[in-house]
This record gives sequence, structure tokens and C-alpha cells, in this order.
Amino acid sequence: MGFFVGKELGPNRYKPSVLTSWLIPKGASGNTYNGLGDTKVSRARPQMHGPEKHPWTKVVAMFLFRTTIGSPVSAVASIKHMWREKFGHIDIAAQRQQGTPESFTAALKEEALKHAEVEIVGIARMREEWRFQGHDDIADLPWIVVTGRSMDYEALAKNMQGDFSSALAQVIGGYEKTQSGAVHIANWIRERGYYAKGYGGLSSTKGEWHLAIPPAIEAGIGQLAKNGSMINDSLGSAFRVATVLTDMPLLADAPREMGVDEFCMSCQKCQTDCPPGAISNEKQMVRGVEKWYVDFDKCMPYMAEHKGCAICLSTCPWSRPGIAPSLSQKMLKKMSRRAENIS
Ligand code: SF4
Ligand code: SF4
Repeated sequence: MGFFVGKELGPNRYKPSVLTSWLIPKGASGNTYNGLGDTKVSRARPQMHGPEKHPWTKVVAMFLFRTTIGSPVSAVASIKHMWREKFGHIDIAAQRQQGTPESFTAALKEEALKHAEVEIVGIARMREEWRFQGHDDIADLPWIVVTGRSMDYEALAKNMQGDFSSALAQVIGGYEKTQSGAVHIANWIRERGYYAKGYGGLSSTKGEWHLAIPPAIEAGIGQLAKNGSMINDSLGSAFRVATVLTDMPLLADAPREMGVDEFCMSCQKCQTDCPPGAISNEKQMVRGVEKWYVDFDKCMPYMAEHKGCAICLSTCPWSRPGIAPSLSQKMLKKMSRRAENIS
């Protein structure tokens, strides 16, 4: 065990470094803070912003330091991300353009997909439960637009050979690039006289007060996978999302069955390859919902010491370019055959 980086003790066993062990609060679990085991439905607690302080703040701060300021590529991406969020939104036009939810939705999606950093787009009706606790002072906005953009698989997958810098550039750079698409959409809405703001997912950004994965699932962007991330039926698991909150009248998409759960039930690749053993083979109860959950207390030290890690994204079979559509089709056929046999 080193001072800055810990030691792998065997498959799925990792001992954090001296520094990380010292920063980990005694007796305080990030899993408890996240609501693991809570049977009552409740909103997520903020990770690094808001009135409530995360018990693992020092470890999370070290993680953010190493993944942003500690790496030149991601430091530049983080600064661009924060600058764009603060100054990149244009003034809202004084006059509201008239239109129907149908016409606005069609035009918004067409515009979104023209942007170089948007590959998929979906819309959900915004829900109170997606706001972090403590953010009750935010104006109600009825719609959330979610976009997705794939990361470069070859660059990401270098983490499986121990090159975490290349993967980090994909993850943090991916946040920034995806955010540029979201802010573009927000500005398109603002030109039409409606409120909109684009968010890119960097949790260090203070204004990021909502979850991204639950609305993305609701908007048909992806399904939650065993590795705690989403899988999409064209982009696989190696993609990032950004969001736009708006009051422009829109139409909601619906969640889509892509066969992800069916596949994850019989696959253990990410679980086997996760160095600290943070991925469970069973769904768990988290704030009143049974779902795939990654052990925070095991994942965070490893991520903090390995530039964001992301091995569970690159090792997922769905992430290999061109594989996701056929895997999804195969799973959907299997599910449909089983349903026929039952009926
Ligand atoms: S990022 Fe994924 S593979 Fe890495 S430690 Fe966390 S759960 Fe495991
Ligand atoms: S590696 Fe397998 S189990 Fe893990 S998320 Fe991907 S498909 Fe699911």
C-alpha cells in the first residue's frame, strides 16, 4: 500500500492508500448517505453542493482534485464547462414564439440532432423526486430534455491496460462536449422566448441540482445496468448525458425496453473486472426502489486514486462499437419468445 495509491490484494479486493484511508471518515458510510437499505421513497442527497455536507467530502474533494485540476486535459474541460454554464446562455427573447407542444418538440429534436455533440435526445416531464434534497427554492420547470453522446471506445478502453488518463479525458471531456450540445439547445429555446438552461453533469458545478439518470431513463435514453450506469441500444454503455430544463411546451417520450436488464441478469463482466469489488450481482433497495447499485465506499477510494477509473464502462460488452443494436435485438427477441411461451 502506497501513500497516494493503494494496493490490489486479489480479485475484487482493494486496500486504499494511506492518504485515502486517513481521509475516509470513521463509521460514516457513503452508502447510508445515499439511502442504501432505505425502504421509504425519498429524494437523493446532494453529493458536493447544497446545504447538506457529504460525510465523505474529503475523499470526494480529493477525487475531484485528481480528476479535474490534477489533469491538464480535464482541467481545461472543467473550466470550459463552468464558463459555459455561467456565461454561455443568451438572453431570453422578450417575445414568446407561438407553437404547439408537437411543433416545438419536433423542431427541438431536429435542431438538437444537428449538433455535433448530440447523438440521441429524449424528453421527460420533470419530477420533484429528481431534485436533490435541499433544493426546494428552485423554480418549477415542467420539462427536462436529455441528450446523449458516445465516448471514444478505444481511448476509454485504455483503462483496462492501466492508462487511466486516456479514459479520464473521455469522461471529463465527454461531460464538457455533451454540455455544449445542451447549452446549444437551451439557447435555441431562449431565442423563442422561453426559459431554458443546459447542464452537463459535472457534479462540482454548483447549479447542478437534479439527477440525470432517472430522467434519462424516463425519456427513453437508456436503461439502468448492473454497473450503475445506463446502457443505450445504439451507444452501449460508453456514453455521457446532458440535460436541459425548460418551460417551453413539449411532449414527453416514454421509457423504452432495450433488453438491458435481461442481459445484465446473466452477465457478470463488470462485477468480475471491478478491482475493489464494488458491483453487486443483486439489485438492492435504495431510497424505496429496488435497483442496481454500486457500493460507494468501495468504488470511491479506487476512483479517487485512479483518475475516475471507468473500467466498468469499458469492460461492458455493450460498449464495443457497433455491438449494442444487435445485443438489444437479441434480448428483445428472447424476451418476446419467453412471453409467448408463458401465454
Ligand atoms: S468505476 Fe466501476 S470498475 Fe471502477 S471502482 Fe467504480 S464500480 Fe468499480
Ligand atoms: S458488463 Fe454485463 S452485467 Fe455489467 S453492465 Fe455490462 S451487460 Fe450489465
